[in-house]
Amino acid sequence: MRGNRTMQNRINKELSLEAKDYILKANQIVIVPHAGPDGDAIGSSLALMRYLKKQGKQVKVICPNAYPEFLTWLHSEDELDVFEKTEEACTTYINDSDLIFILDHNSFKRSGDVGKLLEKQKAPKIMIDHHPMPEAIADITLSDTAMCSTCEMIYEFIDAMGGNDQIDKDIAECIYTGIITDTGGLSYNSSNERIYQIVGALMKKGIDKAKVHDKIYDNYSANRMKLLGYCLNEGMELLPEYEAAIIHLTKETLAAFDYQDGDTEGFVNHPLSIKGINISVIFMEKDDTVKISFRSKGDIPINQMARDFFNGGGHINAAGGRTYESMTKGIEKFKKELPAFYKSL
Ligand code: 5GP
Ligand code: MN
Repeated sequence: MRGNRTMQNRINKELSLEAKDYILKANQIVIVPHAGPDGDAIGSSLALMRYLKKQGKQVKVICPNAYPEFLTWLHSEDELDVFEKTEEACTTYINDSDLIFILDHNSFKRSGDVGKLLEKQKAPKIMIDHHPMPEAIADITLSDTAMCSTCEMIYEFIDAMGGNDQIDKDIAECIYTGIITDTGGLSYNSSNERIYQIVGALMKKGIDKAKVHDKIYDNYSANRMKLLGYCLNEGMELLPEYEAAIIHLTKETLAAFDYQDGDTEGFVNHPLSIKGINISVIFMEKDDTVKISFRSKGDIPINQMARDFFNGGGHINAAGGRTYESMTKGIEKFKKELPAFYKSL
């Protein structure tokens, strides 16, 4: 086509319209993001919730577990429940729902006990997600790894259903939050021009871009900032021969800095700012597991490492996993597997 080219909505229109039919028929809807939800999981869930409420539906976001403090400004008390905190009420709500949205994840395993409950539900399920290898668990699966975030997909989804004029400032701020948190403030995984058309459209909806950035990036507690300082100063080991950095955090260290859920969000990215470091891993001791976050640059498929050795998975440059052994053993395992992994690149 010659002349001005306008980029089209990238989501599957037919499936979006099928989803719209499900929405029309539903009364009570539940939206579930993944456990350990991040800005994209929370942003996409709240954006969709607000849109569905405008369609006159009863809607709740049920988060499997607690989420970071820097995201609480996005919603009011009654809009989001944490399953771990109010299990009974959440279970009743899920059992009574006649439509289920699975957002920003693609396997029941990623939502823990909520996933186990969802697995048993007869209500139709709609998955909207941008992670690789979606499992066949939903009646409608909107899955696209080319999308920068589930929030980008939610914008396209609402647009494809003909609801663009329903996207107000609040919905737009939720969507913008997920777009920036999943792309490191539009620095990685964000080279498709369509993303900027969407950001432009969100600006037109009146988002307060400076406020969103301030709430997300300039909202550290003093302890959180000090914990970051500790991570980089004392908790980081560099393996320059493999272009890698390892950060480790024991339970004792976390307690010493009065760790709150989400405090370490984004810490794993920092070592990638060191010249020559292209792989970064953080090990964090939790109650009965060690949580691991992996990051890489370029075409280093760090999700393979997460999948093959650490019971996890994720995107090519951002993945997660866990080990049920001690943190020391987990780090030893990583160091053992790293040379072969590095050689295979
Ligand atoms: P994070 O390190 O921020 O927890 O996760 C990074 C990315 O990897 C996120 O996109 C997240 O959804 C994904 N991820 C984290 N843990 C797992 C996991 O256990 N399995 C899979 N498939 N993906 C994960
Ligand atoms: Mn995401």
